[in-house]
Amino acid sequence: MAKVAKLSFWGVRGSTPTVDRAMLRYGGNTPCLELITPDGGRLILDCGTGLRILGNRLAAAAEADKAIEAQILVTHYHWDHIQGVPFFAPLYPPQNKFHFYSFRSEFLGRDSLKRVFEAQMAHPYFPVDLHAMSAARKFTDVAGGDCFSIGDNQVSTCWLNHPQGCLAYRIETSVGTIVYATDNEPGNLEYDRNLQRFAEGADIFVNDAQYTPEQLEHHRGWGHSSWREGVRIAEAASVRNLVLFHHDPDSSDKTIDGILRDARAEFENTWAAAEGMVMTLGEDRTDVVIPAARNSLRREAHFRARVMGFTEEGRAFQEDTVIRDLSLHGALIYLDHSPKLQSELHVMLENPGDGDAKRLALRGYVVRIEPGPEKDQVGVGIVFTE
Ligand SMILES: [Zn+2]
Ligand SMILES: [Zn+2]
Repeated sequence: MAKVAKLSFWGVRGSTPTVDRAMLRYGGNTPCLELITPDGGRLILDCGTGLRILGNRLAAAAEADKAIEAQILVTHYHWDHIQGVPFFAPLYPPQNKFHFYSFRSEFLGRDSLKRVFEAQMAHPYFPVDLHAMSAARKFTDVAGGDCFSIGDNQVSTCWLNHPQGCLAYRIETSVGTIVYATDNEPGNLEYDRNLQRFAEGADIFVNDAQYTPEQLEHHRGWGHSSWREGVRIAEAASVRNLVLFHHDPDSSDKTIDGILRDARAEFENTWAAAEGMVMTLGEDRTDVVIPAARNSLRREAHFRARVMGFTEEGRAFQEDTVIRDLSLHGALIYLDHSPKLQSELHVMLENPGDGDAKRLALRGYVVRIEPGPEKDQVGVGIVFTE
């Protein structure tokens, strides 16, 4: 089988986790990436809340008594990049082995990340004692400009412009190069020039895109960037794929859609990091997959539809088709009867495109009652559950 590097996004949100329904598509967990290198090694980039999900996945997949091992590269010590540590299940069994890399912070001193572990799990911040973490842990201090190897891969680092410091990591594998540069504010000539050089020729360049260019003007000194700077670097450094990352906790899925649209208009190969997204880097191509969200209710259907869009080559197209599988979230209906709030409703839906008018049987939960358009009518908001 051809060798590949597989980059998975477990957390993409900046600053703080979000659980807002309007943000679920891109995801609410804070930064955590996993890179499976062509030599079979496992690297983890940052320990935000996405690390918990990754840990559960690793623990479930591990064979009994077989060690889970990973090299963990941490960019800096802000909450959103370390908060997943106490919740990373593989840190507790004794057979597992982890090697952490991070910089020596002037506020924390030698073995900074070790100090972070102790502080995070100190009373009264966490119920479990640090001694319960039995996995072997090794800590290495690194600084901007360092180069070292992990397996067959070359790793180098670069300082970013961020309050209390932050490191970018460049990982060169046998099939291509990934540069992870989050939490960085543009505008300082020296830092900007260094990052551009650091990103040179990357196949995947993951960059801070917390703000829109307009928002960035009002957040100078906060340590973050916008898609426009990502595009500038991507073009200047001949990057192949730009990934917009560290989405603002107040950016809805719709906002991020808009940011992506703006960025793509200037740099075609742009992606917005989404929880669950996997980028597979082979020798001659990069595949991007976002697993379908299967948590909404789905029904077979037969609705006629007209579809308009753009092909991968950028050509506009229009086509008539039939929707075969519809995912349903909810509906607003007007009724003469007023159902009780938070009660269950049965709804039979005609399936208009189908010749024999097959019906969709749905069950829902009343979430809202409001005045209807006519007297004696009520508007009923339903969320479909079955
Ligand atoms: Zn951050
Ligand atoms: Zn930060």
